[in-house]
Amino acid sequence: MSPKSVVVVSNRLPITIEKMEEEQWVNHSSSGGLVTAMGPVLRNRGGKWIGWLGVQEMPDDTSLNNLLSRSAEELGYALIPVNITGEEIEKYYHGFSNEILWPLFHDLLSNCNFDPQYANAYRKVNRKFAQAIAKGTHEKDYIWVHDYLLSLVARELRKIGAQRQTGFFLHTPFPPLDIFMKLPWRFEILEAALEYDLLGFQTERDTKNFLGCVRYLLKLKATGRKNIKTIVTKKGEVHIGTFPISIDFKEFAKSAAAEDVTQEVKIIRQNHENRHLILGVDRLDYTKGIPHRLRAFAEALACYPEMRGEIELIQIVVPSRVDVSSYQDLKQEIEALVGEINGRYTTGGWTPVHYMFRSVSRTELLAYYRACETALITPLKDGMNLVAKEYCACNIDENGVVILSEFAGAAAELHHGALLVNPYDIEKVSRSIHQAFSMELDERRKRMKKLRESICRNDIFHWVNSFLGASVKNPNNGPEVDFFVPSP
Ligand code: UDP
Repeated sequence: MSPKSVVVVSNRLPITIEKMEEEQWVNHSSSGGLVTAMGPVLRNRGGKWIGWLGVQEMPDDTSLNNLLSRSAEELGYALIPVNITGEEIEKYYHGFSNEILWPLFHDLLSNCNFDPQYANAYRKVNRKFAQAIAKGTHEKDYIWVHDYLLSLVARELRKIGAQRQTGFFLHTPFPPLDIFMKLPWRFEILEAALEYDLLGFQTERDTKNFLGCVRYLLKLKATGRKNIKTIVTKKGEVHIGTFPISIDFKEFAKSAAAEDVTQEVKIIRQNHENRHLILGVDRLDYTKGIPHRLRAFAEALACYPEMRGEIELIQIVVPSRVDVSSYQDLKQEIEALVGEINGRYTTGGWTPVHYMFRSVSRTELLAYYRACETALITPLKDGMNLVAKEYCACNIDENGVVILSEFAGAAAELHHGALLVNPYDIEKVSRSIHQAFSMELDERRKRMKKLRESICRNDIFHWVNSFLGASVKNPNNGPEVDFFVPSP
């Protein structure tokens, strides 16, 4: 028998592909935190990544094989694509995942569209992932499934008779009982989740919410160690723990100090000379609370006239799901608010809100992180919010202030150094903007040092090792070999 490997399963493979002229396909590797952290683990012992290529028109077999072997060479591990049809993407991805689970898990029930047609497509696509796992992996491989799109994979594996050890990490929050109860498929989702061997959540609150739903709806109680709980079901034991995701702190800090970023910081500072810069960076999504934030910024300008002419909000909105009409409405709402604030307060030489609707290059992003005195991160609810951690890692001068929503997963870890706010409380957010604006350097440094120390200690490598470590501690289920990521 070959030794066990780790296999990552996520909706998207860690590459994007693009069709060029003359039917040529090109591939680009993605560079998110998960890809960076999993790289060494997967390369270590011939691991694999299973997922969708993100395109509806698949390359022909020869192009696909070329593309996959090129990617495997670049990444150092194999990729297994799962084929999903256009109709399935509509109902499994846009439908069940993003019109039901996404808003529900972010407590935004009124955004849910419980269309019964979506459930079957969700089951079917989860089954396809299970089939790809059964075909492309070894019985002894450890299968690590990611996120709300794939909650049924362990159950589907069992149904097709494929024995695998499985772990599941939920990147979004998990809602409290009163909200989860509204899901028409509540029993199915909970029971299927309990078919994984290990379940990981972002915060203690998410773990407690999940255990509360299991206790009330399935009448099953968790027992066991403080940080890892065990539930015994008819099918066996499942372990449940909290594993807050993080970033490659050292990489961010190092890149933020590099010459290209330093040059860009100078340009930004010249363009906004003597201004206190406040930064917002978000994907276009209603969970990010961008309109609430803009209203709070307007309130701050109204209540604290001494800040007029002195502070500027740089709001970067990264396009996302722009073909969905509710996202187009959100974009219009944001742009109307930016227009209102600027129309009302702009004077010669001072514009209060600088708005960008595009993705920015990594150099530009890191430069904004470094150049801005305050980060204003106010999601209505967020699994973690990596922007908060990235801002701190890049704040190498250790003088920035973080205003952070108490409903972001990051608040559980960063509450000692950040100014915590309820994003719905416009007056409180406005007062916190003023507090950040007026904060003495000593206090800013003290707070930022705490934030950076904590994120450096609990980085993405710590996260991978904790999750896989929890699998190992579970003697029947975990990988028996050292998958751990060496400290970079
Ligand atoms: N980001 C990006 N392109 C940009 C701006 C930001 O890829 O133009 C990245 C950013 O570095 C961060 C991620 O997008 O890693 C956002 O992660 P977060 O957890 O804050 O929110 P999510 O979008 O995952 O809900």
